[in-house]
Amino acid sequence: MIEKVLIANRGEIALRVIRTCQRLGIKTVAVYSDEDYNSMHVKKATEAYHIGEAAPAKSYLNQEKILDVMLSSGADAVHPGYGFLSENDDFARLCEKNKINFIGPTADSMNLCGDKMRCKSAMLKAQVPTVPGSPGLVKDVEEALNIANKIGYPVLLKSVYGGGGRGIRLVTNDKELREGFETVTSESISAVGKSAIIVEKFLEKTRHIEYQMCRDKHGNAVHLFERECSIQRRNQKLIEQTPSPVVDQKTRDRIGELVVKAAEAVDYTNLGTAEFLRSDDGEFYFIEINARLQVEHPISEMVSGLDFVKLQLDIANGEPLPFKQKDLKMNGYAIECRINAEDTFLDFAPSTGPVPDVTIPAGPNVRCDTYLYPGCTVSPFYDSLMAKLCTWGQTFEESRTRMLNALNDFYIQGVETSIPLYKTILETDEYKNGQLSTDFLKRFNIIERLKKDLKEEKIKNSETAVAAAILHSEYFKSRIQNSTQSNSTWKNKLD
Ligand code: ADP
Ligand code: ADP
Ligand code: MG
Repeated sequence: MIEKVLIANRGEIALRVIRTCQRLGIKTVAVYSDEDYNSMHVKKATEAYHIGEAAPAKSYLNQEKILDVMLSSGADAVHPGYGFLSENDDFARLCEKNKINFIGPTADSMNLCGDKMRCKSAMLKAQVPTVPGSPGLVKDVEEALNIANKIGYPVLLKSVYGGGGRGIRLVTNDKELREGFETVTSESISAVGKSAIIVEKFLEKTRHIEYQMCRDKHGNAVHLFERECSIQRRNQKLIEQTPSPVVDQKTRDRIGELVVKAAEAVDYTNLGTAEFLRSDDGEFYFIEINARLQVEHPISEMVSGLDFVKLQLDIANGEPLPFKQKDLKMNGYAIECRINAEDTFLDFAPSTGPVPDVTIPAGPNVRCDTYLYPGCTVSPFYDSLMAKLCTWGQTFEESRTRMLNALNDFYIQGVETSIPLYKTILETDEYKNGQLSTDFLKRFNIIERLKKDLKEEKIKNSETAVAAAILHSEYFKSRIQNSTQSNSTWKNKLD
């Protein structure tokens, strides 16, 4: 039985994992870089250990250092969160070798999922439809040109090791393909030290619809419904919702059965996600498996009533799933907005620095997973995700209006955020009518509409949040000073 979990991550996801462990009476071990001395996850964990410099390669990606902490702290399990080492099969293997329970799939299964080409081949064998493209890795640019001309432009060049929207290039002719091939190769080499490229047909006006997979160590598998994640920028998700407006029960069951087959095909254990693109004519095409807990898992928790981290721990403990597919029912509608520290008008460039003041939204059926507190800092070294704001409603409209209220209540001082963008999106008829596609922002001219909304002051920070912030600024100032003082005592204790 797992008694002490090391969380090899930071930010909101580290806090999310700590929360469930605390509830279950499981001890937690946090790790932190120079930059995260004062981070919330360090304060909330049972124990915390410094692991190196701010740059991820020197801390959160440093496998040996993290292993040292696991062994010296007596942690019997590790939760990798998402990003960082979460999909690194070498790390999973290192844990396996050292008899540390890795909360996720086996290293071999992860290795297969992490390679987009091998994974696609496994899916084809299991009769799960995949996006048309090259039958294997393309050797060189000439082969890529041949394939592109055979399947027809536009095509995507994809690094099989890509992730988080990186390592993907859309090309529409031979000249662009030649250039794109170079860029994807060098991007992939600089990110992961190697490159292998596949060519895929670029599917236009598609929706990104993914399924939550869940399989225990005894081979029992279910799916925990779909999430639609079509509102994206730079191939990365911004707003997610479940259920998808275009998935009826029949489709849910049909694709769900494929997802269970997909999990079996790669011998997947624990929670994972099977991502699909859905074309305008209703066909689903598998794109990849994310072998970890997904950023947007809270909306699936809201409609299923399950605690996914608890489920992960139970599966890692070798327990059989406590339910069968027929026992699972979807309840209500949930939406997530990823609150990023970024400047929408500077092509979503990161916006970092101190956050002297913050008001976190609350209320019935509002959930905000965040590392923010008044006086914290948004670091330039890590991901721009500051908070995940989720709302639930009995109807989609209830969930949507609740989200608008919550966005209005969210006040973050000091950095630019994606909040105004979301207010504009949520108010469009296109969003309300469920006309979603991965090119939503461009297709419906959203940035121009945001500019107009801001000019006409249709959207602004809520009066209440701003007023509350002003009223409390003196109080917060003293609180920040106090917290800095107490942190230094607390730091001494940790060192
Ligand atoms: P999800 O599918 O759960 O939405 P993303 O693809 O957005 O996940 O990835 C979650 C986060 O993990 C990203 O924001 C990024 O920080 C990190 N990440 C994922 N893959 C990579 C990668 N290959 N390189 C660097 N960071 C990555
Ligand atoms: P990552 O590993 O970065 O998450 P994915 O393969 O999951 O990469 O693709 C990320 C996003 O890129 C998708 O959600 C979708 O918007 C877009 N995309 C990927 N493959 C295709 C494709 N063949 N056609 C059109 N869009 C695609
Ligand atoms: Mg993906």
